[in-house]
Amino acid sequence: MNITVIGTGYLGAVHAACMAQIGHDVLGVDTDAEKRNLLAQGGVPFFEPGLGEMLNRMVQSRALRFSASLAEAAEFGEVHFICVGTPQLSGSFAADTSSVEAVIKDLAPLLMRDCLVVGKSTVPVGTAARMASRLARLAPAGSGAELAWNPEFLREGYAVRDTLEPDRVVAGVTSARSDAILRSVYAPILAAGTPYIATDLQTAELVKMAANAFLATKISFINAMADVCAAADADIVTLARALGHDSRIGHRGMAAGLGFGGGCLPKDLRALLVRGDELGVGESLRILREVERINAGRRVQTIEIATNLAGGSWTDRNAAVLGASFKPQTDDVRESPALAVAAEIAAAGARVRVHDPRAADNARALHPELEYAPDVEKACTDADIVLHLTEWSEYREIDPVGLRGVVRQPVLLDARNVLPLDHWQAAGWTVSGLGIQAGKRSGYGLGPADRKELD
Ligand code: NAD
Repeated sequence: MNITVIGTGYLGAVHAACMAQIGHDVLGVDTDAEKRNLLAQGGVPFFEPGLGEMLNRMVQSRALRFSASLAEAAEFGEVHFICVGTPQLSGSFAADTSSVEAVIKDLAPLLMRDCLVVGKSTVPVGTAARMASRLARLAPAGSGAELAWNPEFLREGYAVRDTLEPDRVVAGVTSARSDAILRSVYAPILAAGTPYIATDLQTAELVKMAANAFLATKISFINAMADVCAAADADIVTLARALGHDSRIGHRGMAAGLGFGGGCLPKDLRALLVRGDELGVGESLRILREVERINAGRRVQTIEIATNLAGGSWTDRNAAVLGASFKPQTDDVRESPALAVAAEIAAAGARVRVHDPRAADNARALHPELEYAPDVEKACTDADIVLHLTEWSEYREIDPVGLRGVVRQPVLLDARNVLPLDHWQAAGWTVSGLGIQAGKRSGYGLGPADRKELD
């Protein structure tokens, strides 16, 4: 099929490349000329494992092209996927849906032929119905131009696999024709046994918001338990592991630590709270306010523990920060807990040197006041404290004996609770985690197999 993908950021670039990979002819459209030109040359403007090679192959084969022109898209496409951003509105918890609205406003008058416009962006429930009536009003193709909503559940870091082998496809549709078109778009994926759930527009929108709210709740729950463990001298890592073996609970999203961030979970949680209030069911969502509060508290707690470990003041203190992205395997620093902590202690007077294997450039753009080091050793040289804030797997391979030789004080705070602290302790480090009382235990650490369960 001829498919357009409008908005080629983290979601859209992956979606466009994957649609080409499964056999469609794809045209990507983005208003950002720099991004578009790089993509058109087969380059990827962000780090996503496995994407570069596939996207380049699709561009070389001409199955994937890029353009600035919605008119070209309207002429070319049988299916138009909308993948533009829906960030948090500044000064409010609500979602800013203006980019989605702009695409509908600009694209609809150009739609002369029968087609399906498919929203993939995450939007507050009710947005799709509004967009559907706007499309019906503006499209010259009339009822031949329909709207569907097909939310996306991919995880950055696993985006290619999640797109090609999703857990499910959710299709918000208003006609058998839209349903049939979406089934044929995803035919190779559905043939592999992927569940396909057809529903109305509003349920489809809400599935996405509810999924993110649930994931956030799971993370905040285990973080609340981390506080209980710390107070009771129990071990949150073992507790999470044991809990996860219950098949009703599962291991994923059960890693206690610095909490969640990123371009999706926080803003989607807040947008759902706002929408709940608008719908008069704010009380029912009160749990999500606690989820947000617990998550914000993780940063505060990390800073408090770090400040104590640094001797109560950051004056003349050097802090090494390991990790800047909001989670490993991505260079995305939107609402990164690691960067928030780094910026806060720098503001309190510390000299902060940050290392991240992939996200240093994005971090520097957001926080130019911090220093950035090209490797772990340089970040840690003369450090009074090492803060492990994003759990890149390579940090688990650090040799604590060697690193001890470069720091000023061998003090480690593992705010992700994944480092083999027994090794660090044996190498002479003072170690702390979140949900663990420092020095009260002989050590812990997760092996790669355990991490796999938790990712
Ligand atoms: P992003 O900011 O990386 O990408 C958005 C892109 O849209 C940008 O390249 C921007 O230039 C482009 N754009 C904006 N207005 C445009 C317009 N009028 N016409 C054409 N292009 C336009 O954002 P993202 O992370 O890709 O997220 C996009 C949507 O997908 C959001 O609603 C997000 O919540 C949802 N989502 C994201 C992920 C993820 O992991 N990033 C996962 C699932 C869902």
